Parts: sequence; structure tokens; C-alpha cells
Amino acid sequence: MNQIHHFLNGQVVEGASGRTAPVYNPATGEQRAQVELASASETREAVRIAHAAFAKWSKITPLKRSRILFKFKALVEEHADELARLISSEHGKVFSDAKGEVTRGLEVVEFACGIPHLQKGEHSLNVGTGVDSYSMMQPLGVCAGISPFNFPAMVPMWMFPVALACGNTFIMKPSEKDPSAPMRLAELLKEAGLPDGVFNVVNGDKEAVEVLLTDERVQAVSFVGSTPIAETIYATASAHGKRVQALGGAKNHMVIMPDADLDQAVGALMGAAYGSAGERCMAISVAVPVGEETAERLREKLIAELAKLRVGPGLVDGPDNDMGPLVTREHLEKVRGYIQTGVDEGAELVVDGREATVEGAGDGYFVGGTLFDHVTPGMRIHREEIFGPVLAIARAASFDEAVAMINDHEYGNGTAIFTRDGDAARQFCEQIQVGMVGVNVPIPVPMAFHSFGGWKRSLFGPLHMHGPDGVRFYTRMKTITQRWPSGIREETNHFTMPTL
Ligand code: NAD
Repeated sequence: MNQIHHFLNGQVVEGASGRTAPVYNPATGEQRAQVELASASETREAVRIAHAAFAKWSKITPLKRSRILFKFKALVEEHADELARLISSEHGKVFSDAKGEVTRGLEVVEFACGIPHLQKGEHSLNVGTGVDSYSMMQPLGVCAGISPFNFPAMVPMWMFPVALACGNTFIMKPSEKDPSAPMRLAELLKEAGLPDGVFNVVNGDKEAVEVLLTDERVQAVSFVGSTPIAETIYATASAHGKRVQALGGAKNHMVIMPDADLDQAVGALMGAAYGSAGERCMAISVAVPVGEETAERLREKLIAELAKLRVGPGLVDGPDNDMGPLVTREHLEKVRGYIQTGVDEGAELVVDGREATVEGAGDGYFVGGTLFDHVTPGMRIHREEIFGPVLAIARAASFDEAVAMINDHEYGNGTAIFTRDGDAARQFCEQIQVGMVGVNVPIPVPMAFHSFGGWKRSLFGPLHMHGPDGVRFYTRMKTITQRWPSGIREETNHFTMPTL
């Protein structure tokens, strides 16, 4: 059985805890590997290594750090197909989605290559007589990242390139469901010339995380995962004096106004709701058509498109399927359970993915694209994150009702509006209580040079990931006010300028 170890001090290191977790291929249901789960003492050793590496790494010139990241970028590009295959074989998403994930991660690496420009600090001359003030943005020290299963390469790449570029050292704790891609990224960082100990991967679960949240040598924690865990991570790490950004779950709505280009909206919805089997924090899981006529037309078009959705293994010869399996059998059961809950709550199950026949499915964790209509805000299938290929139509009588439905929801990660009306779009952008908004764009994921993050219970902590917020998160500002009165020079400096 393939064993997945840890990556410490520049090497793959076998774990000694004796605890492991199975890693499955979701397309076949077969166990493909076993990942070691670090003990508390193994995790403390990783912290010691990262702490020791900080002194040197933080003093390396910013340009040298950038050059290593440039090399890393080239290596990730060279190995993009290999990484995408690794992702697909443990997560299940189709190859093109996995490749897209690598590309989005790479964009953060590209952003990080230019960080010297953003880390220059500030300077004010003559804030008083003979007094200047300047601020420097210094790295924090050891930073930790804890990532979810759904983007095993991209989410770690939201974190560590920015942290490393700013001069920090890093410990990554990937999801135990699909840990191979981050392990491969660690090897590529080493190949790019990153000094040993600057980037480490500790595989593990709650036991390892507990150390990262409480060890006083860890200065900052970046977390992405479900809301209950994000909230706990934020509370625990903050109580231990750490800087924390903890991104949580989501329930994203797309408003379709009566004047929208419906074909464009439906095409966008199909990708946003069912791509990656709905296992995306920016997936659209609720369509909100405004007006009965819009709702009827939308429903008919979605039914027609769902009949064409190709569901199957992520790695196939020939053209990709549209959607792969879910990540684990347990998650499959959870999603199937939610479909039943929707039926029990009185929503209309228009397309039942539980009945889908999937070619080449074997024992894989497949469920087909599912569509509910007449979903209302009180229902659990509207309130809770399902994280599967289940789209709910929640009809709204007016623009104001659609906005209120979104603003009343506990999550505020992403949302979108499809309309031809500039004023409606503008009002929507201003009024909506959500962190990332799309106008005729279904998954409004900000580019790497902007920052990524939601509002309300989708993010705990003030700073978003990557972009300017990422640089602020991984640096600490120090402001120096210095006085060099000219009188001192006049009294003590006997050097006279030569006359020309
Ligand atoms: P999860 O919360 O179960 O796990 C996330 C990480 O936390 C993993 O590394 C896991 O090992 C660790 N963890 C789990 N339980 C823990 C505990 N009790 N104590 C300490 N650590 C623990 O999330 P998941 O199922 O891997 O990922 C899916 C979730 O992530 C969804 O809710 C999704 O919306 C969310 N997500 C959010 C964003 C965002 O940007 N807001 C992005 C991607 C995923």
C-alpha cells in the first residue's frame, strides 16, 4: 500500500505515530494510499524546524526569494498534468477542473513573485523639524496553513507563496482525504531552490492542528474549511495570541432577473452548480429567478441541460466528463441524505441525481446532477451547505425579495446577478451582504492580485486571502520615527564641502 509521509526539513520523513488514515480513489471506491497522521510531538518537531529556518530565510533578499518562486512557478507549469492527475485520483474532480485548479494556484505564485513591490513600507519626510517617519513590513515568523479537501493544490497555494515571499517559514497541514498534491508541491519548492525547513508538510488530523493553534512559536494560522471548524480554529488560535484568517462554508445564490440573457445564465449555472460535483465554496447552490415567468423558463432550460450532463470518472481517455464523483462514501451518503431531506421538507424534486446511471462508475461515489424547485428560506436544504451537485430554485417575486433572501442567509461567500439592467446590477453590488459578487459572472473568484474572502459566517478574521490582504496578513508593520536635527551636524561635523 502506497504510504504518504510528511515533508520536513527538505525531505520526505516517515511518521512514527503509528496512526494512519485511508486515502481513496473516489471514482472506483478503492483505497489508493494510506496517509500518516502526525502526533503532537511530531508536529512540534515541524514547528522547531520552521522556527530554526526563519532566522536565515527572513534575511534573504526579497529578490532572491522571488527568484525561487519564479523557478517554482516554472516547475509547477512543467508538472501541471501530473499534479492534475494526482488531484483527480484522490479528489475525484475531472481532469480539466483539476488542471484549472493548478492554474488558479499558479496565479497566486505569480502574484507572490512581485511581492517585494508590496512590501516596501511607507516613508514620510519631515514629519517634525528634522524628524522622518518610516514603516517597514516585517515577516511574522512561523505561519501555519490548514486546508480542506476540495482544492488540495489551489488552497495551499493561496497561502504559502505569499507567506514565503514575505519572508516567513511555513507548515502546511493538508486535508487527510487528498494529501498527495501538497506533498508534490513541497518537492517542487525544494527543486526550485527553497532552503530546507522553510516549507514543511505535516500530514494529520485534529492532533496536529491542536499543536499549530497553541504552540507559541507559530505566529499566524490560515485556515480554509467548514464553518464549525473555522469558528473553533479562529477562537482557539486567537486565544493563543495568533493572527488568524479562517474561511468557512458557503451557500451561494444567483439572482436571475426577468431581463437576463437566459441562455447565458443557464450555461453559467450548469458550470457553477455542477462543476466539481458542487464541491466548491464558490459553487452556486441556489438559483433565484425573479418573477414566475423567469422561474418557469429557467426550470425548463435547466431540466434540458441536466439531461445532457456527463457524469463519470475524472480521468478518462478522450473528452472529459462534466462532473466526477464526490470525495468519500461518507460524503456521498450525506448528500443523498440532503436530497431526501428536501423531499421530506416539501420541496419539489425535479431531477433526482440518486437515480442517475453513471457509465464506468463501479463502486465510485457518484450522484447525478439534482434539481429542486419551490425551495423556501426556512428549509434545511436552503439554510445548510450541501456541498454536492444539488441546485435549488428559490423563487422571488421581486428584486428586493431576492436581495433580502441573500442578506438574511448566515453565509456570505459569493453571489451573482444576471441582468441587462445596469441600475439593478449596481444596486445589487451596493446592497448585498456578501464578500464576492459577480455581475453576469457566475463564480466571481477574485484574481490573485485582489483578495479572496467572504462575509458573515463564511470568514472569521478581518483579512482575506492573497492579494493586498494576503501581504498584510503575513507581515507586521513597524513604524520608526527618527530625529536627526541638523544642529547636531553643525556642531559635530567639521567636514566642509569642497568648493567647486
Ligand atoms: P473540514 O472543515 O472538515 O476540514 C478542513 C481542515 O480542517 C482539514 O485539514 C481537516 O483535517 C481539519 N479538521 C477537520 N476537523 C477538525 C477538527 N475537529 N479540529 C481541527 N482540525 C480539523 O472541511 P472539508 O470538508 O475538508 O472542506 C469542505 C469545506 O471547506 C466546505 O464547508 C467548504 O465550503 C469549505 N471551503 C471554504 C472555502 C472558502 O474560501 N470559504 C474554500 C474551500 C472550501
